[in-house]
Order: sequence, then C-alpha cells, then structure tokens
Amino acid sequence: MSTFPHDLFAGQRFAVVGLGKNGLPAAQALRAMGAEVTAWDDQPASRAAAQAAEIDLPLRDLREGAFAFDALVLSPGIPHLLPTPHPIAQRAREAGVPILSDAELLFRAVRAAGSRARFVGITGTNGKSTTTALLAHVLAEAGVPVAAGGNLGPAALSLPLLPHDGVYVLEMSSYMLERIATMRFDAAAMLNLSADHLDRHGDMTGYARAKRAIFDRQTDADLAVIGVDDALSREMAAALRAGPARVVRVSGVAQAAQSHAGPALDVSSWPSSTRPSLRQGAAGDGRVEPGHDDGNADIHPVAGILQDAAGPLFRLADAQALPGAHNAQNAAAVAAMALFLGISRTDLAHGLATYPGLPHRQQLVATIDGVRFINDSKATNADATERALVCYDRLVWIAGGMAKEGGIAPLVPLFPRIARALLIGRDAPVLAETLAANGVPHETVGTLEAAVPAAFAAARTLAAHVVLLSPACASWDQFTGYDQRGDRFADLARGLSSGRAA
Ligand code: ADP
Repeated sequence: MSTFPHDLFAGQRFAVVGLGKNGLPAAQALRAMGAEVTAWDDQPASRAAAQAAEIDLPLRDLREGAFAFDALVLSPGIPHLLPTPHPIAQRAREAGVPILSDAELLFRAVRAAGSRARFVGITGTNGKSTTTALLAHVLAEAGVPVAAGGNLGPAALSLPLLPHDGVYVLEMSSYMLERIATMRFDAAAMLNLSADHLDRHGDMTGYARAKRAIFDRQTDADLAVIGVDDALSREMAAALRAGPARVVRVSGVAQAAQSHAGPALDVSSWPSSTRPSLRQGAAGDGRVEPGHDDGNADIHPVAGILQDAAGPLFRLADAQALPGAHNAQNAAAVAAMALFLGISRTDLAHGLATYPGLPHRQQLVATIDGVRFINDSKATNADATERALVCYDRLVWIAGGMAKEGGIAPLVPLFPRIARALLIGRDAPVLAETLAANGVPHETVGTLEAAVPAAFAAARTLAAHVVLLSPACASWDQFTGYDQRGDRFADLARGLSSGRAA
C-alpha cells in the first residue's frame, strides 16, 4: 500500500462542499494529489474545524462568484435534486459541472495511478456495513491487500493506493451511487430494498434506480450479486439477468435442497486468478441458462449450512458474530464475492468464522455468570430490533429512547420471548403501554445505569441467558448517538463482572 502520486490531479479544479467526515478528507486528499481545491460548508463551525485541520484550505462561499470547476464533490448528506437542490448544486447543474462522490474520485485516482486493483461495491437498504466489513475481513485473512470504507468510514478518499492484486471494498449509499460517472465495480452487491430515504429519491422507483446504479457499466467479466429475499430486489434480479454481468442471487432464508432448481451455477469452478467461467446457456452466449425461478437463490442456507451448487460452504452457527437470517444473507453475498475474487472455500469458511462483528450490531460485549450482554444499539427502529429479537428464544430486553412512528407494535408477535423488559428514555411510557396491553412483564427504569443491573438481576432470577439492548428508538434524548449509547451499555455490562455495578 502506498500513497498517491503528488501530481496525479495537477491542473484539475475541484469544489468540495460539505466539510464533514467525507468532505474534509476529500479536500485534503485531492490537494495532496495536486488538484486545486476550493471548499465550502454552510456551517461556520464546520468551516472552522476544516481550517484547523487543513490550515491553508481555500474557503469561499460558492453560492457567489465564478464557478469554474472540473467537478463538484458534494457531501452525501447534501441534496442535489430532491427534496430541494442545495444552491451550490443548482449552480453546478446550471454550469454543466459534474457532481461527483468521493468514491468516483477514488476510482479515477487509482486508475490514473496505474493500479489495476479491483473494486467491490455494496449497497442495499440494510446490511451494507456488515457485508462490507465481513468481505474485507475474509479477504484480509486470506492475505489479499484490502482497503475498506465508503459510507461506513473511513471516507473513500482516505484509503491508500493498493497494488494490482489489491481489492477496494466500498459501502455505497444510494446518495453516493447517484454521483458516480465512470466507476465500474468488478463485483457489486445489492442486498435488499425497503422504503427508506424517499425524501431524497422521490419514491421507491427512484430509490431502486439509485441502488441499481451499482451495476452500471459492468461487463461480462464482472459479477452482480443480488439478494432475492424481497420482491423489489427479485424484480431487479430478473431484469439484471439480461446481462452483461454474471448474476448470482443470494438469500438468507432457509430453502429445501430440492428447491435449488435450474442449472448449476458452479462458483467453485471459478479459477482463482482469472474471471469465473459459468456454465454457458444452450445458446453459448456466456449467460446463465434461463430456467431459474427468480425466487431461487444460487447461494442460500439449507438446514443451517450455506450452500452453492457445488455443495456446502459454511455452517452458519460457526459465525458467532453473524446471528439471524439477515446475516445469513450478508454471508451469502460475501461468499459469492469472495469466491469470485479467487478466495478458496476453506479460506472463505475461516474468514466467516473469525469475523469479529461491528460494534453496536448484535455485538456480544460481556458474558457474566452465563448471561450474555448483547449490544444492538444501532437498532433505532422496530424493524431492526425485530432482526435481533428473533435470534433469542428467551431474553431480558432493554429498550426505549425516542420512538419512531408505530412504536414497537410490529414486535408484538415476538413478545413471548421477552422474560422482562426494562425501559429507558423519553418514550418509555409509549413502549410500556404496548407491553402492558400484551401482558409483557416490564419496568420503566429511566436510564441505562439503572437498566443494566436490573436486567442482570432479572436474567438470573428468570433463567434468561441473554440481556439485549436493542432500543427500537433513536438515542438523541439521552446520548450523542447510538454509538455512545452502545458504548455506555458495554461499559456498564463489563462493570458488572468486576462487581462495581452489580
Ligand atoms: P447498514 O450499513 O445498511 O445500515 P448494518 O450492517 O449496519 O447495515 O446493519 C444495521 C442493522 O440492519 C442490523 O443491526 C440489522 O438489524 C439489520 N440488517 C443487517 N443486515 C441485514 C439484511 N441483510 N437484511 C435486513 N436487515 C439487515
């Protein structure tokens, strides 16, 4: 790994707008590559922070004055179309200046530097970060030079220059995908689609269109992985099978072995150093033969074992950090991409089994007297909490904060698993009402400091072996974010073992 040449973008002029966790590293990296950068952020505090980090960074209010740039690098959080375009994005559009994401510029920089390192892009409504981190882990464990980042951080333009055999694994949000122009992913995955960010994309069609851009410019040498566990993604899978990329459909839902219809998609036969060769259609056109039902996945679990057409790949229970069907889908996507990238089945299984997990997503933070403390603070809505609750037959649940519309009503079918609930935060009364109406034993304790020892005591008394923080609520009423909430939970749980908080 090395740094990019200092004259790579010499003579190019970039406007960088939005100086947060993507914009500031972008401005710094582009300058380090010799580009002329003019930066702006509407927030004086962000401008001050940027100038503290990059002392001679030229700042100018780009709503006024000349607007002559090769591209505008706009932070993912700033809209260029819906709900209303930012005035600087509007100027760029009027001036015909392309609006690009930092990922696009990373791609250009890598190619301009002469590296043939491969690019993997991962998108979907849920599971992007997990799948990105998991694939990066599998590749790194197998000795592949890998750099992972994008939406989950670090920012794309903070990543180093990789050699020819390196792999960039990028989490691509729909916002980033709206702003790529030449980027081509050797392997791209679209995991699932459910309603999200519709303010920015207009409607589901617009959102699906943005996600589908991850497959743009792919050729018949490339891999398109797609989850088939929801109807919209299945539709996308069917459309993609027109080519040119090879399509591998993945599922986290258990399927009977015999339902794996259609011709074998023998990923095990893919040569490690070159592109995979799939069984050809009767027409010999290099495509997978039609005949799959679109609901049938090429990689999916059978009786707890992830399988492809060549046979068993991995026993899902061996991956402690990947509980639940949603994670089986993530693991299936990783399997498809890792095999395509030349990883052996043995190395794949090793990488999946040793994945340590990401913080705050069903993360085991302590085991005390046989009680496991699971930090799922990232679950800020009922949908995400549902994915955690289904993983445990009997548990003590800590929930609450700022409830989302609909509260925890969607979780009612899972209530029989809850031995006791401890409620925290502003909307504890709202959650308590739903629990009471359904006869779930619960107590409003207010804070995590009170909830953790109470949950531990309840777990021991009620012989439940899991204490799960999966709040189904935002954290802003008591914390700076879900990460601070999860860290506090972990600290409190670990404190129990030393007897301090017991
Ligand atoms: P993202 O980066 O897309 O937000 P994460 O990997 O951070 O996704 O996971 C966030 C939450 O989304 C998890 O805690 C889990 O509840 C849920 N999730 C993860 N993977 C999937 C999946 N494949 N399908 C549905 N939900 C998922």
